[in-house]
Amino acid sequence: MPVVSSLHVIKSLGHQVVGAHEYFTSARCPRPTCDSFLETVLPRSKYCRQCQVYFDRDAVGSENIARICEAQLIRQRRPLKFKPVVAATAAATTAEGSKRKRRREQ
Ligand SMILES: [Zn+2]
Repeated sequence: MPVVSSLHVIKSLGHQVVGAHEYFTSARCPRPTCDSFLETVLPRSKYCRQCQVYFDRDAVGSENIARICEAQLIRQRRPLKFKPVVAATAAATTAEGSKRKRRREQ
């Protein structure tokens, strides 16, 4: 069944559909409290030096896509650690600037 047709069927059943670009999904540690980049150990394995854990590359990608979709549903935005580095830095800088501005205004 084509993807577009499948989406219509899923939506008609009352389910929400969320898309996620695969950017960085197998490059970053899937643990919520860890922002580390993963090292490629074997062709299909990844290793987080900070957590000292090995992951299957496809499992990491799947788990991170699920986390991105969950964030899209709850907060309507992609988590910073899965954004391109330039965009994540700009967002973090803007957020920090807003906090400073609010502190000065108080
Ligand atoms: Zn980690």
